[in-house]
Amino acid sequence: MTQRRVVVLGSTGSIGTQTLDILQRLGPERAQVVGLAARRDSEALAQQAYQLALPEERVVAVERDGAAALTRLALLDDADTVVVAVAGAAGLAATLAACQAGKRVCIATKEVLVAAGALVTAAARSGGGTLLPIDSEHSALFQCLQGYDYAQIDRLHITASGGPFRTWSREQIEMATVEDALKHPTWRMGGKITIDSATLMNKGLEVIEACWLYGVREEQVEVVVHPQSIVHSFVELRDGALLAQLGLPDMRLPIQIALLHPEKVDTGIPRLKPVELASLTFEAPDHVRFPAITLARQAFRQGGTAPAVLNAANEAAVGAFLSGKLRFTQLSGVVADALSKLAQPESDSLEAILAADVAARAFVARVTGE
Ligand code: MG
Repeated sequence: MTQRRVVVLGSTGSIGTQTLDILQRLGPERAQVVGLAARRDSEALAQQAYQLALPEERVVAVERDGAAALTRLALLDDADTVVVAVAGAAGLAATLAACQAGKRVCIATKEVLVAAGALVTAAARSGGGTLLPIDSEHSALFQCLQGYDYAQIDRLHITASGGPFRTWSREQIEMATVEDALKHPTWRMGGKITIDSATLMNKGLEVIEACWLYGVREEQVEVVVHPQSIVHSFVELRDGALLAQLGLPDMRLPIQIALLHPEKVDTGIPRLKPVELASLTFEAPDHVRFPAITLARQAFRQGGTAPAVLNAANEAAVGAFLSGKLRFTQLSGVVADALSKLAQPESDSLEAILAADVAARAFVARVTGE
């Protein structure tokens, strides 16, 4: 039995609290929390630190730019595993450092891979770090690919719930409120990812994430709408075999797999019972009502800083939507404008990516008058 010594970056968010739940279920022989960081909600953070009896220097409350503090935590000598569940540039620096230091890096923040996939995968290769996805679709792909070489992949089929507006007409979506967009049909998640699920930008980001994690081309990644969220994704191998992983919509299983792979432990989380499965349905996404996947593919093909611009413009636009400064149907237009004005396909250094991130957020702030 291996004991994991875990740093959780973003411990008070949805993924962070579920990670702590799994770590507690695993018990101290299998897992020990050695560091915690959170962006806000410091009362919750203080409570977590108290319950885990963590000394002050192992608990970081990040106010604004906390890249150095998060990186210090990610590089703690006695930590072998880092869970990245914190958004933005601070999460990127800590991820790069942990990959470079040869740690197991469990990535919940897909934005890090979207903005800087080339840098993160290169850091893992050169430093000996292992990237493990916490995203449920990518965890499913990872599980289906055990025993296969990634070169044997023909296609990856990422499932999408379709979000709350799957059956809404274009006219109805025009009138969608923040409250409507926050009503996710199957998953309970944070606000940003819930809005990304409603626009399907989340799936666009996941196409890019899959390309980096499994070394496939964007054309090899398909999106299939599956409203029940039971099949978490499919892998189609060269010979046509189609493999899937099924489970309840509960992030704790992908979290546990990322933490423990290849070890398997019963932590008592609810299980999917095949006899209780009703019908499972699948359909193609509608790219006219939901243009975000096409935008994400375009940004990935452009390369350079384009995915970083896509990511940051989207995050800022979602923030503007949540505070009532943009309508739902304006989200993809703002991201498209940022892409066409700011993306630099030739540059992909860390500096260029960080600058693109700042520029894209400033662009959105200008157009929304924030
Ligand atoms: Mg996902």
